Amino acid sequence: RSFEEIGLDPRLVRALSKKGVEKPTPIQQVAIPLILEGKDVVARAKTGSGKTFAYLLPLLQKLFSNSGSRSKVAPSAFILVPTRELSQQVRTEVLSLIQLCRVQLKAVELTGGADMRAVLAGSPDILVSTPGCIRKCLSSGVLQPASLSDSLEILVLDEADLLLSYGYEEDLRALKAHIPRRCQCLLMSATTSADVEKLKKQILHNPFILTL
Ligand code: AMP
Repeated sequence: RSFEEIGLDPRLVRALSKKGVEKPTPIQQVAIPLILEGKDVVARAKTGSGKTFAYLLPLLQKLFSNSGSRSKVAPSAFILVPTRELSQQVRTEVLSLIQLCRVQLKAVELTGGADMRAVLAGSPDILVSTPGCIRKCLSSGVLQPASLSDSLEILVLDEADLLLSYGYEEDLRALKAHIPRRCQCLLMSATTSADVEKLKKQILHNPFILTL
């Protein structure tokens, strides 16, 4: 099936086409419709499978309707990654799609060393960061924990196996308390260890499990 046939917004389909991406990969075929429907999803997906677009495209589509809204007090989406390198890659991809789609969404990257207050001052819609950084923002009050319950709609844990092996479990546990019940959660992981299973149980609600 094509990107149109799995329900992707024409703006995203055109943006992908400009990037030379014409046909969804197997993980995208299955994950995109489920995420658009609002399901929590766990995908066992390696780098190279197209896992980034598998969560990014439906995430952006869901935020298109928020585009231009000025009332938000905190980001609508968190994308949590294990490293600064991956955070930069994901943000570059998000910015490029936003620009090609010509929507008014703002995405920022927040990793160690950045001025957290300055980065968050522009009311971003999408925050790409590490769990440690988000926890610091919450504990210092740069992000108001209470504001997340009104604004957070989608949480992505990318490379969840690495998030855990890099020692972010405690930070994720601290964040969990502030994730609203209705927030959609997506977990991407190359492997499914006992620790990833535990994280899945702690954060996701009846997720669809995709192993492709
Ligand atoms: P990822 O698995 O997310 O690390 O993606 C690996 C690479 O595949 C990236 O360079 C993407 O731009 C590319 N890619 C993702 N989805 C597709 C697709 N449907 N068709 C062709 N290339 C893709």
